[in-house]
Amino acid sequence: MKAFSFIQASSLGHAAAESAAMGTSFIAGGTNIVDLMKLNVESPSRLVDVTKLGMNQIESDSHGNLRIGAMVRNSELAEHRLVKERFAVLSEAILSGASPQLRNMATTGGNLLQKTRCPYYRDVAFACNKRSPGSGCPAIEGHNRNQAILGGSEHCIAVNPSDMNVALMALGAMIHLHDGKNERAVPIQDFYLLPGGTPHQEFAMMRGEIITAVTVNAQPKGAKSLYVKLRDRASYEFALASCAAIMKISSGVVESVQIAFGGVGTVPWRANRAEQSLKGKAPTTQNFADAADAELIGAAVQSENAFKVELIKRCTVYTLSQLANGGAL
Ligand SMILES: Cc1cc2nc3c(=O)[nH]c(=O)nc-3n(C[C@H](O)[C@H](O)[C@H](O)COP(=O)(O)OP(=O)(O)OC[C@H]3O[C@@H](n4cnc5c(N)ncnc54)[C@H](O)[C@@H]3O)c2cc1C
Repeated sequence: MKAFSFIQASSLGHAAAESAAMGTSFIAGGTNIVDLMKLNVESPSRLVDVTKLGMNQIESDSHGNLRIGAMVRNSELAEHRLVKERFAVLSEAILSGASPQLRNMATTGGNLLQKTRCPYYRDVAFACNKRSPGSGCPAIEGHNRNQAILGGSEHCIAVNPSDMNVALMALGAMIHLHDGKNERAVPIQDFYLLPGGTPHQEFAMMRGEIITAVTVNAQPKGAKSLYVKLRDRASYEFALASCAAIMKISSGVVESVQIAFGGVGTVPWRANRAEQSLKGKAPTTQNFADAADAELIGAAVQSENAFKVELIKRCTVYTLSQLANGGAL
């Protein structure tokens, strides 16, 4: 690991000013960036700690909308009464990830920005367009069992590993950013950038911007939600395929539905086509399968990951069936 200096930010303005210098990174829980520094994947010369800036509240307004401070720890968010009662899908997604110790450290802001677990990205002995632009993508010809089937390009097929962000994607969250002077909000669907020809540009953020909060609007009254995660082992493992869904059935048809996929996309994947396919239809297994097929038309598989097409389809059908049968909150 390269030597670095450490600065405790005392205000948003201070953090933004400090981060203007090249080679500076923020640190929150440190569960991702410190790993990457040990692997020499990231080598900041300065770390600016943003954990003492407040931003650690979970608040609800009179309409039931939620504001989650960027420093709220994953465990606190998952166990919060309002989150469990009204945004159960978010609680379930967080609790399905990592371990209690990691969730005690990990923050909302840090989780949003966590990096891919692609083995080529995490090993500096290999080329990687995300880590070293223009160097190539060995995953395409190499080991690609865990890589993305949606949203990839000829330059990168690295999967986004997060669980929390899949739930936030289904919930249609807004990400609030501050540059030390002004705040702006970005819809989560615009926040994650597809790799295209620039896989190193992952987030719709400017240099020096800090995530201050995530907001989530109250979900339709009577809607039910669920997060289902499929993985190689039952705990302490990233998703091979996961589905977050919020669905309301009324008069025997799907009145509203929001679906997002994890483990299969280069970004947490909002399944817009699947949603469109389902609205107004009867909540049957066949219609759920057709909805998944509609989304997966765009899937591009590699030598080892074609199984993910069927896996995410079954995961989606199972999740929606559970919701339709009243098996979830
Ligand atoms: C063994 C292991 C297993 C895991 N399993 C899972 C899993 O199953 N599912 C899952 O979803 N995750 C999993 N994770 C990932 C874990 O959830 C993330 O490491 C964690 O959420 C990152 O949060 P953090 O606060 O520690 O981020 P940090 O490591 O502090 O920061 C991560 C990045 O975010 C930036 N950053 C942090 N806060 C801000 C801010 N407010 N504004 C701007 N930039 C900021 C940092 O500069 C850095 O680039 C696992 C991690 C480990 C180590």
